[in-house]
Amino acid sequence: MDLLEYQGKQFFAQYGIPVSDGEATDNVDDAVAIAERVGYPVVVKAQVHTGGRGKAGGVKLAENADEARMHASNILGLDIKGHVVKTIWVEIASDIAEEYYASFTLDRSAKQHLGMLSAEGGVEIETVAEENPDAIAKIHVDPTVGLTEDQCRAWVEAANLNPDATDGAVDILMKLYNAYVEGDADLVEINPLILKPTGEVHALDAKVSLDGNATYEHPDYTKYDATQPRDEREEAAHAKGLQYVGLDGSVGVIANGAGLAMSTVDVVNQVGGKPANFLDIGGGANADVMSGAMEVINNDPAVKAIFINIFGGITRGEEVANGIIEAMNRVTIDAPIVIRLDGTNANEGRAILEPHLSDSLMMETTMLDAARKAVELADSQANG
Ligand code: GDP
Ligand code: MN
Repeated sequence: MDLLEYQGKQFFAQYGIPVSDGEATDNVDDAVAIAERVGYPVVVKAQVHTGGRGKAGGVKLAENADEARMHASNILGLDIKGHVVKTIWVEIASDIAEEYYASFTLDRSAKQHLGMLSAEGGVEIETVAEENPDAIAKIHVDPTVGLTEDQCRAWVEAANLNPDATDGAVDILMKLYNAYVEGDADLVEINPLILKPTGEVHALDAKVSLDGNATYEHPDYTKYDATQPRDEREEAAHAKGLQYVGLDGSVGVIANGAGLAMSTVDVVNQVGGKPANFLDIGGGANADVMSGAMEVINNDPAVKAIFINIFGGITRGEEVANGIIEAMNRVTIDAPIVIRLDGTNANEGRAILEPHLSDSLMMETTMLDAARKAVELADSQANG
């Protein structure tokens, strides 16, 4: 569950992390009223599930009511990387002496928590990692031990922040670690973490991702449901009862069984392609399920080729083949389809498909060859 900045700040505040006084709203009049209450200057900030809002014109300083009104009306409705701003957060503006970066996330390969801290904050951390990796101080925290204050202090010193910031940074990072663990977060990030001219350290931005599997421990997390980023493809698929996860690539994937669907995604990656989705049609592969799956994939404009990977078990090859043919009669598919059909009665199934094969419906015997074909087709469609 990805929180908006203001939700992240409210989450931080529960764990004692200093954030600026502010309020969220969806309209201009309220924005001005909030500005009047917290006192000028204020910052008006777009609340969208993406970073780089500052550069996109989604973060503006206002010195008075007229400016607050102007910025609020400009930012509401603004499109930031495809995210239309529906909510803004108005907070009291802070004076900034320095901008830092701080985060905790899970390092799965190390089986430990990873803390990252940098004196070069305010910019995207990926840029710092590329251009000046030494500017990021990293620590691993053993989850069974936790972050000790000594370890935290040594980490802050390694990051070469302004010495004035040391105590404040140690205090915030201890609280941030606690929020990360107690709140069952997958990611907590503060960028920028600021040092004020007065010497206080303060969170000026918040990026928080909570573990959706830990909600049984946090019943109040249902309050974030309404603001979750929506993937229209996923909504359409789930409405049809399909197990679908949207991905960023160009090869649509349909497979029967979650394990096979995951392997299919892996194989597409392995041969240099990018899956557009994970889709498990389950054990059966009748025409209803298959046409529903094809429809969902066909409606994704990023899909340039479709890889149908079926291993017949209880569902026999003929049933699968008939399901595919009937589905193709019902849905007009734009992208070429590559089928790999194996398992129970595969030969019978292939014989049914054979007369229908064309440039837009191809068959390969192995999963690897089928993946190669689908990726090749997706690449040529993308370039043609
Ligand atoms: P992002 O661009 O989406 O990461 O949004 P941020 O919340 O990080 O804001 C972007 C930048 O706006 C920060 O790095 C600051 O430089 C600036 N900014 C945000 N809030 C304040 C503030 O209260 N005072 C000042 N002076 N600058 C601010
Ligand atoms: Mn930021």
